[in-house]
Amino acid sequence: MAGYLSESDFVMVEEGFSTRDLLEELTLGTSQVTTGEVAAFFVADLGAVVRKHFCFLKCLPRVRPFYAVKCNRSLGVLKVLAELGLGFSCASKAEMELVQHIGVPASKIICANPCKQIAQIKYAAKHGVRLLSFDNTVELEKVVKSHPSAKMVLCIATHDSYSLNHLSLKFGASLESCRHLLENAKKSHVEVVGVSFHIGSGCPDPQAYAQSIADARLVFQMGAELGHTMHILDLGGGFPASEEAKVRFEEIASVINSALDLYFPEGCGVDILAELGRYYVTSAFTVAVSIVAKKEVLPDQPSREEESGSTPKTIEYHLDEGVYGIFNSVLFDNTCPTPTLQKKPCSEQPLYSSSLWGPAADGCDCVAEGLWLPQLHVGDWLVFDNMGAYTMGTESLLRGTKACRITYAMSRVAWEALRGKLLSAEDDQDVEGVCKPLSCGWEITDTLCVGPVFTPASIM
Ligand code: PLP
Repeated sequence: MAGYLSESDFVMVEEGFSTRDLLEELTLGTSQVTTGEVAAFFVADLGAVVRKHFCFLKCLPRVRPFYAVKCNRSLGVLKVLAELGLGFSCASKAEMELVQHIGVPASKIICANPCKQIAQIKYAAKHGVRLLSFDNTVELEKVVKSHPSAKMVLCIATHDSYSLNHLSLKFGASLESCRHLLENAKKSHVEVVGVSFHIGSGCPDPQAYAQSIADARLVFQMGAELGHTMHILDLGGGFPASEEAKVRFEEIASVINSALDLYFPEGCGVDILAELGRYYVTSAFTVAVSIVAKKEVLPDQPSREEESGSTPKTIEYHLDEGVYGIFNSVLFDNTCPTPTLQKKPCSEQPLYSSSLWGPAADGCDCVAEGLWLPQLHVGDWLVFDNMGAYTMGTESLLRGTKACRITYAMSRVAWEALRGKLLSAEDDQDVEGVCKPLSCGWEITDTLCVGPVFTPASIM
């Protein structure tokens, strides 16, 4: 163990007790009825992160994972990933400070923002972070002045038109401009050591990775012709977050492995990295959000349903988090967050067309519409799964209060795996075999076991 994470950082979950049970206990202990005030809170299953890591190593054995800190900078996540030996991809000075604060050495940090503030470049120079990305000549000029010993990674544009999120609109040099950039770097005595790309998030076509790896090969050739010693290929992020994604992680990994064998075969001396964000954390986080207000809306005109005796009213529930906070994926990724209910409704309970609204004084702050829910009440909790990526740090923008509390949990089996007692990355088990037992059994929602009442440890 490297000592980044200790048992006091999380609640150890014993066999038969799921993190869902933990969330039940936390919501019971945090009732609006008694206090009048509640805030949304997260429960994070660090075992799920460990499990993702083993899957990654199994599927992409030649790739060294870095974690994109911007995705979720909560301390529990950073600590568990540091413990697993990941490097960190930082987009800002604050992110570099944060990972260095927990003890991550500068050699494990890449400053992967091609358009940096000068202060960020100076911080990297002062604190020994040498790997920086760029995609334009102005960035090279800044580096010459502020960090002449930097090792630069040329970020190239990708074919990301099918992705949900088009990063290449903003970042990445075109193939046509790469020679000019490499020449400029040479003239300015700036070392270019590799190529990076990011295919964008939610890319439905794994071939986009293969195409970018082929493009990177061309840029490596250009670099070699100009006298650069290039030895890093950075595959960026965009890897799917959940099993429900259009393309499975394993499918993408297989395409990448074939492309690497073709363009960067084993023994070619190139260090292959990836900068994963959502892949690692999405499924590990669940958030509980409380209903703070409720409005029943009757239609102006009696509808057909009303005439036929069914339930015409719709119900608006107001939450203390919205699309300008933890539910920002509604705005950016067009998602429709669907809650699970704390109390399972019985089959006779009528369902009403319901909508969920955030706290902003703004008609756009609609989290979800057209949900069919039973009658809920102020103080009831709604639970949303898969909330680990790009949710934190934006929460509560409009509430003006501090960030949501996070309670970290990990199953003992995951902890043992992390400590290398049960499993190591080299264990020759299939991915499912390695992955299954490590998380806290979040999926066991129906079998409520009676477990101990914890005083949970929260980092943050
Ligand atoms: N690397 C860079 C440079 C990024 O900009 C991002 C996200 O925007 C990531 C990695 C992580 O991407 P994802 O969360 O899709 O894996």
